[in-house]
Parts: sequence; C-alpha cells; structure tokens
Amino acid sequence: SLRTTTPACTLNVPSEANYTEQLPAGLGARLQEAGVSIPPWRGRPTSTLEKKKRKPQLMEEDEPSGALLKPLVFRVDETTPPVVQSVLLERGWNKFDEQEQNAEDWNLYWRTSSFRMTEHINVKPWQQLNHHPGTTKLTRKDCLAKHLKHMRRMYGTSLYQFIPLTFVMPNDYTKFVAEYFQERQMLGTKRSYWICKPAELSRGRGILIFSDFKDFIVDDMYIVQKYISNPLLIGRYKCDLRIYVCVTGFKPLTIYVYQEGLVRFATEKFDLSNLQNNYAHLTNSSINKSGASYEKIKEVIGHGCKWTLSRFFSYLRSWDVDDLLLWKKIHRMVILTILAIAPSVPSAANCFELFGFDILIDDSLKPWLLEVNCSPALTLDCSTDVLKRKLVHDIIDLIYLNGLRNEGREASNATHRNSNIDTAKSDRGGLDAHDCLPYESLSFTSRMYNKDDSVVEKAVSVHPKAAPASQLEGEMSGQDFHLSTKEMAQSKPKIRSRHTPHKTLMPYASLFQSHSCKTKTSPRVLSDHGKAPDPQAGNFVLVFPFNEATLGASRNGLNVKRIIQELQKLMNKQHS
Ligand code: ADP
Repeated sequence: SLRTTTPACTLNVPSEANYTEQLPAGLGARLQEAGVSIPPWRGRPTSTLEKKKRKPQLMEEDEPSGALLKPLVFRVDETTPPVVQSVLLERGWNKFDEQEQNAEDWNLYWRTSSFRMTEHINVKPWQQLNHHPGTTKLTRKDCLAKHLKHMRRMYGTSLYQFIPLTFVMPNDYTKFVAEYFQERQMLGTKRSYWICKPAELSRGRGILIFSDFKDFIVDDMYIVQKYISNPLLIGRYKCDLRIYVCVTGFKPLTIYVYQEGLVRFATEKFDLSNLQNNYAHLTNSSINKSGASYEKIKEVIGHGCKWTLSRFFSYLRSWDVDDLLLWKKIHRMVILTILAIAPSVPSAANCFELFGFDILIDDSLKPWLLEVNCSPALTLDCSTDVLKRKLVHDIIDLIYLNGLRNEGREASNATHRNSNIDTAKSDRGGLDAHDCLPYESLSFTSRMYNKDDSVVEKAVSVHPKAAPASQLEGEMSGQDFHLSTKEMAQSKPKIRSRHTPHKTLMPYASLFQSHSCKTKTSPRVLSDHGKAPDPQAGNFVLVFPFNEATLGASRNGLNVKRIIQELQKLMNKQHS
C-alpha cells in the first residue's frame, strides 16, 4: 500500500498546486483511485548541498517505485543534547524550522524537559516525543523510594531488596531516628553510615554523608539512605554503573536494556575515615571531572573517571566473577523498578523514555539501585562517552521501527490531517492481526520462548561478554584504555563472594537475540496487540516481556501479580 501519511516524511510533494501531476507515472491516478488526497508540502526545500551531504533516512518498505522520498524531520530546543541533533543530521534527517514549516511537520521532538499533557494529547500519528508522561514517579528520589516500598509491602522483600533502606523527610524523620539509634546499639563501637540526598537535585549536588547523628542536617525534600559502605572497589576506587533503559511503551509495557553502558569512578581512593571527600565517595562525573586526580593515571582504572560497561565486565571476568549472573540481576532490577510505576502512568501514544539507572555494586556483588534518571546526560566529555553516539543511533532504530507501526495504522487518517485523533486513548499500532507480517506471529515467538535446547544453544549471549567487539575495540584504543593484565592482577578487587558461572541457564533476553539474528534486517509492520515486540535494535535488547506468560500479562491491562510470579520463578531457577 502507498504511504501518504506524513507530510514531513514520505512523499516529496512539490509545493506548487500541480503537485499531483508531478508524481511518478501512474502514482497520482492510483492515489486518486484509493481516495487519497495529498496535502501540499509546506516544508523547507532541502538545498542541493544538504542533499549531497547526507543520505536521507527513508522508509524503504514504503517506497513506491520511482517516487522521491522526503527525509524525516526532527524538532529540538535549546536543552536538546547536541549529540542528538548531530546523529539525526548524520542519518539524513532535516531539522524542523519553526519559521518556515507548518507546526505539525515534524516526526520526532527530542528535548530534556518533559512534555505537557496537551502536547501528548495533540501528538500526531507520524510524530514521536522522547518523554512519556508520569515518569517522574521513578526519577524523583522520594517518589522512587515510596513506590518501591509499596512494592515491597505487596510482593515481599526478597524481590524488592535492591534499594538501600530509605527514609523520606520530613515524614519519616521519627522512623529514621529510631532506626539510627537501634543500629548504633547493635553495632556497639562500630560506625554506621548514612547519606542524605535532595529529592529533586542531580549530579551529586547537596549530598551529605554522615556517621554521627550530630552531623545530620534535617531538611525537607531530602531522603536519608543507608550508605553502602562496602562498595566493590577497583584499584581501591569506588564506582557505579550507568545502565541505559528505553521504555518504548507502558501500555503494553515494553522495556529494552542497552548492552553497553558506563562505569563511573570516584577519582580519589575510598576512605571511610573522611566522609567529606566527595572525590572519594561520589561517583558523579560532573564532580570528578573537576577533581585534581581526574587527569592522573590512576591504579587500575587509568586516566579520567569512566570505563565502558563491557570493560568493567571483562575486568570482572578476569577475576572469575560470574558477570552474566550480575547482568541478569540488573535486568530483573530494571523490570521490577519499572513495574512499580507502570500501572499508574497515564496512557500516551507515540512516545518513549530513555532512563539512566544508577547502580552500585557492593563487594559481595550485590547490585543496589541508587536512582533512576530521565534525560540521562548525553554530553561527550571523554573518549569513553563516544558510546552515547551509538546509543542515540540505536534509540532511533528502536523507535523508528515502532514508528512505522503508527504510520501503518494511520495511513488513511493522515491524509486527512485535520481530523481529530484521540491519541491519548489509542494504543500504538493498532493494525488488525491479519495486517501483520507472518514472521512476527506469536507461534514463532513461542518457539523462541520454549526451552528447546537447540534454540538456546544457538542463542547469542547478551551479557556484555557478547557486546559488539568492533565498537568496544574502538573505544579501548582511547588513551585511558592501556591496562595490561599484569597491572590488573596487581590490584585484585576486594570481592567477598564469587559465583560459579552458570552454564545451563541462558539469560532470558538472549532467547530474543537468537530470533533477532534471523529477522534483524527485515522491515516490520506489527501490531502491538498480542504480538511480540522487536527483540533487538542495535545494542538494545528486549528484557520485557520475556516469555509468553509475561507477554500475555502485559496486554489488556498490566497483570503485575502474574509478572512478579514469573520473575520469582526465574529467580528461583537462577538460584537453584
Ligand atoms: P545524584 O542524582 O545527585 O547523582 P545519586 O543518588 O545518584 O544522586 O548519588 C550520587 C552519588 O552518590 C552516586 O553516584 C554514588 O556514588 C553515591 N551514592 C548515592 N547513594 C549512595 C548510597 N546509598 N550508598 C553509597 N553511595 C551512594
């Protein structure tokens, strides 16, 4: 079928009144026959120079033979990270020009701050917004603590034990005081450690670490949290992980985890006797990059304050640590965290959210969730940050696949651009089952999900061991990646427990990946109703839904209880 949906993205319709006549032979007549009228193109014509510079990203599957296709259009504001604009231009997108273009002639609006509900309601079928409404429930520290506490009450502490004990001020003040003094009594002469963080600030601003109650400054809008005083140290430096997670939809819930990420180091050695030294206790790069030790070549970690996640995992493997198990725990933590808010976020079509999960690993290899960021920093501060370019590319790949679904559904609607579409009520997608391509049918998916050994054997492991070598090698060649195994060996990490690598159980997402290897290049037009989402886009792998039961439990309303049961089963298997 022909796509005449998006004024800014498909047919290159000339602005003159005779545009129908200028269409490739026969196309005008076919459109007329189908009752399709084409709105005049009101966009800025692309200059010859621009055309030469970029190879436009177009929808191959929709290209009517001989028709010229229009590049996609992105919209930004002053808060949009420069890398986003640069990646989109590189992919052949055009930048939206408010002065010259019609207000609706864009396909993707990417900005740092969230969108107003009216902006969500008025989004057109051909448009995508880079935020989902209601996600501050995860990204404000106090809200996150409250939601996870609620989940713990509902589903038990064994699943929801990954957030350090947290008190939200001022409400929990007396509870905190009681806990503090009870612990003091228990520990005797040993010290206990707490961290006080402003609920709404980021980048390590306003943080206070204390041991003695007299150093605690009570303030509203703060949370007080157990300070993890036994972090995994590398070369005696503390670190935490920045994991990128993209939720392409909450209804149905669809979660992807990026297989590459960042490890952020403190730049001074960890030392509990000096709690005031932010360079030793906080791992925020915004703090550490201004520290005196940033430029120094530091023991094991080298120059700067960042590693890639794959470098971190390969470091752990060199100490016989089961990085795969750790990675699985992180996936589970991501799913459980998002489940805490998923039922209560408002319905919204055509939007996605990139989250940055900050995770601290302790010396028993237990991951702790510190916080969840929306609009995680996409600045390129050092050579390690180059992964963010690929991250943005992969996000576009991921949502663009999803975007095609909307255009499929709205092919006829969009020709009547002014028709009112209740986007808030409509789910993304919406093609009838018979419109879906057969290879994406549930029966195929069932094959992926079943524990058929041959499928499992073929599966490519998704944990960072299998992260694309070329990308990583490229990054490793940067100046801060010159550590020999000998240097590593000299500085053995202090790890209290080791895991024996599990040979039998593949991570659930790898089952998707085996599938993705077969279908990766095929364009898809899918339904969100009952069909499995794309298993992979670039380095993004689907972690939820992760089997048939959770696929079912995420359609027609989210059955959290059922999903938790499935997670519990997985967890039991991993521990057996
Ligand atoms: P911000 O939003 O200001 O970055 P975070 O919660 O991410 O706040 O904390 C900043 C840094 O402080 C983290 O990167 C980590 O190094 C450290 N930190 C935060 N909470 C804890 C904790 N409970 N235990 C140990 N370190 C912590």
